[in-house]
Amino acid sequence: MSKHIATLIPGDGIGPEVVQATRRILDATGVEIAWEEAHAGESIFRKGVPSGVPEETIASIAKTRVVLKGPLGTPVGFGEKSANVTLRKLFETYGNIRPVREFSGVPTAFSGRGVDLVVVRENVEDLYAGIEHMQTPGVAQCLKLISRKGCEKIVRLGFELAKAEGRKMVHCATKANIMKFTEGFMKKVFEEIAKEYPEIESQHIIIDNCAHQLVKKPEQFDVIITTNMNGDIISDLSSGLIGGLGFAPSANIGQGIAIFEAVHGSAPKYAGLDVANPTAMILSGVLLLRHIGELAAARTVENAVLATLEDGTSVTKDVAGNNPPVGTQAYADAVIANFGRQPSRFGARDYKEIQMPKFSGGPVTVIPKQRATLGCDVFVEGDCTPVQLGDFLTTIAGAAGLRLKMISNRGTQVYPSRGAETDCVDQWRCRFFAVAETGVPVSALATLLTAIEDGGYRWMHIEKLQEFDGQPAYTKAQGED
Ligand code: NAD
Repeated sequence: MSKHIATLIPGDGIGPEVVQATRRILDATGVEIAWEEAHAGESIFRKGVPSGVPEETIASIAKTRVVLKGPLGTPVGFGEKSANVTLRKLFETYGNIRPVREFSGVPTAFSGRGVDLVVVRENVEDLYAGIEHMQTPGVAQCLKLISRKGCEKIVRLGFELAKAEGRKMVHCATKANIMKFTEGFMKKVFEEIAKEYPEIESQHIIIDNCAHQLVKKPEQFDVIITTNMNGDIISDLSSGLIGGLGFAPSANIGQGIAIFEAVHGSAPKYAGLDVANPTAMILSGVLLLRHIGELAAARTVENAVLATLEDGTSVTKDVAGNNPPVGTQAYADAVIANFGRQPSRFGARDYKEIQMPKFSGGPVTVIPKQRATLGCDVFVEGDCTPVQLGDFLTTIAGAAGLRLKMISNRGTQVYPSRGAETDCVDQWRCRFFAVAETGVPVSALATLLTAIEDGGYRWMHIEKLQEFDGQPAYTKAQGED
């Protein structure tokens, strides 16, 4: 019986070739892995499975808990959602780990600087929760949801990874200066948890500066923890620093489950031609070996890849330049032949096994000592001026026990006017506070919303204005006192 089991998804386009090359290399290390082949993506969409992921594949992953996956395509006209995203969400792979390191022998604008960093991206929350609404026919909304639990999971994963890889510095990159509650939550949780890792230097960095610094001085970074959307962008940016998509591996990490895949897609124009660069997939295989505790084999494969690239005699078409390229499988043979060798520069790190944090399942409720509802924001659709709407709402608010404090349009206060030259659209955020300390009973809302509709306006959304432990749980509009 094999020591390990894993699900192998060949994927689409160049997927089967790079996965085959990787499997041969992993098997050649002598680590016993019983591969269970399963399918997802194009062929499955074409069979009429709308998610692109059949039950057998889900069952295999649920059993093996370790997946090596080729890229999956979404054929035009089949399925609405990407099979990749479905897999990530189904198995709650909350962390996306993307190592980026310089390869001696792969020339880039940054060659010689020893770029060696890991982006640790939150993988399921943020704008990617995919909760979108057209609030009016002319205004779209996407909810950016960030939870304490989600932040804790990714921040702990980032620090544990830093420990396992002997890294000295962890950055947290957010836009907390603008989005104080959502992006700010990640910053806050990061600063709390960083105290538990005094041996690792920690620093918050604003995401736009992080992008700037990554291009200016990438070698200063070690581990970057970040939210989903930021991470999506800076991890691709980081891949570009070291030679591009052919060299970018990744791991999607969940609780006791992990899916390893190259960052690149199925590159259909190269499918079946034996020209694709399998390095990204092979290095994803290295991450898999490390995940299953086969650290020595992982080091052997990583160093063999690094030595092969450094030699420069067996490289694929995308990086061969004027030299004759080798095919995908011949490159894999060269890597196997180089087992036991080390590159002269930028070798594999000395990794320890990562101590994956354990999290309780089920909802986590954060209970404040004290909470109060002070008012509400009502989002209203109306073809009107701020003064027309403001004067109208002021007259109807009293009957509901409320007073209108202000109206904002696209985030800026426009009523009472502060002189802003806002180019208004037909979606108005109308902020009411309760006149008495009774809060905002549902009956008051019913009175208010009925009066709004009777006045010829439409409401489409309400948000409570709450206070938790004496702290406002809402932000002010631009220009609001
Ligand atoms: P892509 O990554 O497949 O290809 C972009 C270009 O990058 C290719 O034309 C090729 O020039 C180059 N390239 C990528 N990987 C390479 C490799 N290993 N060796 C040599 N060159 C390589 O991106 P795309 O064209 O936008 O997407 C094609 C399909 O892949 C789409 O259906 C997309 O949805 C899917 N996709 C899947 C994943 C995934 O499964 N994780 C990720 C991205 C895209």
